[in-house]
Amino acid sequence: MEVVVADKCGFCPGVNNAIRIAEKILADHEEVYCLGPIIHNKDVVEQLAEKGLRTVDDVEQIKAGATVLIRSHGAAPEQMTRLSQKGVNIVDATCVLVKRLQQIASQMQKDGYKVVIIGDKNHPEVQAVAGCMSEAIVIADESDLHKIAENAKLGVVCQTTQSPEFFSSMLCAIVRCSFSEVKVVNTLCKEAVKRQESAVELCRRVDIMFVLGSLESANTRKLAELCKKYNKQTFHLQNWQEFDIGIGFGKKVAGVTAGASTPEWIIGEFVEKLKALDRPL
Ligand code: SF4
Repeated sequence: MEVVVADKCGFCPGVNNAIRIAEKILADHEEVYCLGPIIHNKDVVEQLAEKGLRTVDDVEQIKAGATVLIRSHGAAPEQMTRLSQKGVNIVDATCVLVKRLQQIASQMQKDGYKVVIIGDKNHPEVQAVAGCMSEAIVIADESDLHKIAENAKLGVVCQTTQSPEFFSSMLCAIVRCSFSEVKVVNTLCKEAVKRQESAVELCRRVDIMFVLGSLESANTRKLAELCKKYNKQTFHLQNWQEFDIGIGFGKKVAGVTAGASTPEWIIGEFVEKLKALDRPL
């Protein structure tokens, strides 16, 4: 069948950088710890585990004196302090755009703003940014607006991988609250936005759309959510193994996009096998 791949999809510079750094340090060390999965892709995590990258959830699980990689989502200052106290060798692969978000939020707090982070409170990036604050308000949707105190001086930032559409809709909801001042800084990642725009443009002109990436990857879920809005025949799959031939009938042209944590070989395999189907879906 005919398959069209989105202009912008797959690994972003932040993820590429974290993996490059991991491979470089693993070449010199038998064992390196990573605080949380390096990316939300189990194949990549397993490949790096074979080379010696040990994923742990907590600083307590790290041996004193070990080498520790901080993934692109970053880590909270409290975790960094505990790591330093353990005397570990920290290799920081936090994405520069996530660092920028942390710095902006910290500066807002210093300037007397009550920091509001628009995003998912369970996402490691949001937890790391909130961890930079003595107190932060995380707004995932309108049901969280009650957390904003009356007449507050608000400093608003957004999780890097959210969409401009979501950011603006939440800003509109926030300004309907009672406040004395609102300062907004655009902390969205341009790479994530380009992937969203490219996916939306493609899904509108194909019969069926596939979004490839882990179900745990926030940016992949966001891509799937956006595509579903414009093309009801959108399917979020992790890889070719999840493809089901019965997904649809009579579809002639398929679009494919992938999240920032989906490796090239997963996209390539999916596209090749889809192209090889000798009949429309
Ligand atoms: S999606 Fe953007 S902010 Fe997140 S790691 Fe990639 S480049 Fe950095």
